[in-house]
Amino acid sequence: MTDSRAPRSQRPRSRPVIALDGPASSGKSSVGAAVAAALGLRFFDSGLLYRALAWAAIDQAVDPSDGPGVAALASSVAVEADEDGRLERVVIDGREVSAEIRTPDVDRVVSAVAGAPAVRATLLVRQRQLVEAGGIVVAGRDIGTVVLPAADVKIWLDASAEERAARRALERGIDPASAAGRAILDDLRRRDRADEGRAIAPARPADDAIHVLTDGNTLDQTVAAVIGAAATRLGATAGGADE
Ligand code: C5P
Repeated sequence: MTDSRAPRSQRPRSRPVIALDGPASSGKSSVGAAVAAALGLRFFDSGLLYRALAWAAIDQAVDPSDGPGVAALASSVAVEADEDGRLERVVIDGREVSAEIRTPDVDRVVSAVAGAPAVRATLLVRQRQLVEAGGIVVAGRDIGTVVLPAADVKIWLDASAEERAARRALERGIDPASAAGRAILDDLRRRDRADEGRAIAPARPADDAIHVLTDGNTLDQTVAAVIGAAATRLGATAGGADE
């Protein structure tokens, strides 16, 4: 029997797809990149696409809540792989904006961009094209539920809002207890509410996601927990019953 006709559960899992969802600043990109490197997989953080469109909307003076207007900017956005296969270079109309899309200005408008049905429909197609070859860890909010519901492994990475905001503040050299630190916490909560409460593709764990809580963890501990969860799920599927 050829591989393509073998029951899915018995096919070699050489190009697994791992969906890594979770709220803002839960560590998806650093954990996802480290897990991908350890398992020899590519890595793609889907938030880059929403951030790229938010940046393009600001740059082009398009109202971030004008879904069709923002979606029309998607054709100018390209995501390129670096030498390690990480899809993380974002280029808009020939200009690299990988750093610009991670600024607080973009944080402020990205939820409005991500809540628009026209934007999500356009980016759904783009995300599936980018990952269709498999062998990849994909970070986001709705990867396990909407974008790749047949992913081999689904992880929901989470931590308390206070811990996530403190990590983000320290990354930016800000004291979490300062006024600027508290502003980061407020903004993170606002973004969580918008992402969880939107009508289309709200951020939530898939029913079959493995929950990994990271409060108090070092990066290495979380990476090890995710690799362990993925190995368990991949092993269980490879040895499990036919679909
Ligand atoms: O993960 P990150 O914070 O970079 O994502 C930026 C924003 O993009 C999120 O706040 C969310 O509104 C949106 N997003 C989304 N669905 C995804 C990934 C990101 O709605 N799969």
